Amino acid sequence: MIEVKGLEHQYANQEKAIQYPDFECPAGQGLLLIGPSGCGKSTLLHILGGFLKPSRGDVVLKSRHFHAMTAKERNHFRQQNIGMVFQRHHFIQSLNVLENLKYTAFFSQANIEEGNLLGLLDFLEIKDLQNQAVDTLSEGQKQRLSVARALVHRQAILLADEPTSSLDDRNCDLVASLLKKTQKEFNSTLVIVSHDHRLLPYFAHKKELDA
Ligand code: ADP
Ligand code: MG
Repeated sequence: MIEVKGLEHQYANQEKAIQYPDFECPAGQGLLLIGPSGCGKSTLLHILGGFLKPSRGDVVLKSRHFHAMTAKERNHFRQQNIGMVFQRHHFIQSLNVLENLKYTAFFSQANIEEGNLLGLLDFLEIKDLQNQAVDTLSEGQKQRLSVARALVHRQAILLADEPTSSLDDRNCDLVASLLKKTQKEFNSTLVIVSHDHRLLPYFAHKKELDA
């Protein structure tokens, strides 16, 4: 469960704070936040992911006040609970698809078996590509790998920043459908921020962010 109340953020060089509407997303629900470029979508996801402290307001995740935690607690909480799908993927280009997932698993020091990682690739329909170098993947395939990586620890909260903006219609449909399927299968709380209106029909719960 995610709850956001009275949230504002003002960067040092900005005259006016970005103000966010209050919202909540119960466990196992998907929420689409839609708004134009520059309205503060990425800023919001960085706040929800605990990478940026808001100038005002509160984020409650699983009944915990996220920004009242120490940095160490917050990092630990993020690793255990939050999976992020970023607009730009940061894969290790010299590693193949499966190795990229193994790398994520390794650095969290969690004991995750290869079978689980392959299961995840299978679920996202990219298991055939496990031995392929990441730089040979299409944008749609990379985005699916990005979702797989966000799920390595079966995180309860998934945050996605413009997951479909660089995709053609077919891949947009595939990624949107897979995100929904993932949310159901893992009973995850899914928050997507996007300016992509093609996503609207996929989500029953949505909110507009104003410019
Ligand atoms: P969106 O993701 O909706 O396009 P952003 O959250 O990236 O919007 O940015 C919202 C506003 O904050 C924009 O005006 C942007 O220029 C500004 N902004 C974003 N990041 C920074 C930063 N690190 N420092 C200063 N201003 C920023
Ligand atoms: Mg953005």
